[in-house]
Amino acid sequence: MIADNLESVRRRIVRSCERVSRSAEGVSLVCVTKEADVDAIRTILSLGATEIGENRVQDAVLKHKAVGNMAAWHMIGHLQTNKAKDAVKIFSLIHSVDSVRLAQEIDKEAKKIGKVQDVLIQVNTSGEKTKFGIQPGAVLDFIGEMNLYNNISLKGLMTIAPEVNDPELVRPYFKALRELRDKINSIPNTQYSIRILSMGMTDDFEVAIEEGSNMVRIGRAIFKNAT
Ligand SMILES: *Cc1c(COP(=O)(O)O)cnc(C)c1O
Repeated sequence: MIADNLESVRRRIVRSCERVSRSAEGVSLVCVTKEADVDAIRTILSLGATEIGENRVQDAVLKHKAVGNMAAWHMIGHLQTNKAKDAVKIFSLIHSVDSVRLAQEIDKEAKKIGKVQDVLIQVNTSGEKTKFGIQPGAVLDFIGEMNLYNNISLKGLMTIAPEVNDPELVRPYFKALRELRDKINSIPNTQYSIRILSMGMTDDFEVAIEEGSNMVRIGRAIFKNAT
């Protein structure tokens, strides 16, 4: 079942890319395993998955212990500052940097273990009060502050779209994130070159890819009815 689901997701990624004349190789698939057990994770790894996404540090630490570094681990959920220490040990990319305080803590813990931690800034493109993330208008200043830290490396932006019945309704948020990235990269006299746009989940990844996503985070479409 997981094999069929994964195959179907991969096909849908390819078709979405074709619609906008992009190469599917430019889209990373992060398999979100927060609802999956270690056996299911081993299964997707055996099917060629290379990126694993978890939203809680404690769960990720246990699963990482069991499965190891056969995959790259992504922290996609809200990260509390007191978990930064464990997070930098296992994650290759933290998608959810949303405060200077958290950036500082990641920097400090990464420095202790001699690592430069790759991160994304989580942007609250929809402005929903219930969502974490930096407001779009504050992202540039935030990047300016992050630049003070030598042990974090900013690779891109992440957003979570509102839950809606029709994915077309969230297209503007994905477009806004792409435009924000392009704007940042075009600022004169800076060396900003952030590439990653982490956007798109089970219900909206096709629209996200059409709008330029190059990293989708997919859970349910892969693991539903998995056993
Ligand atoms: C759970 C989760 C996903 C995956 O969601 P699905 O709808 O299961 O594909 C993606 N991103 C984040 C931040 C999540 O918490």
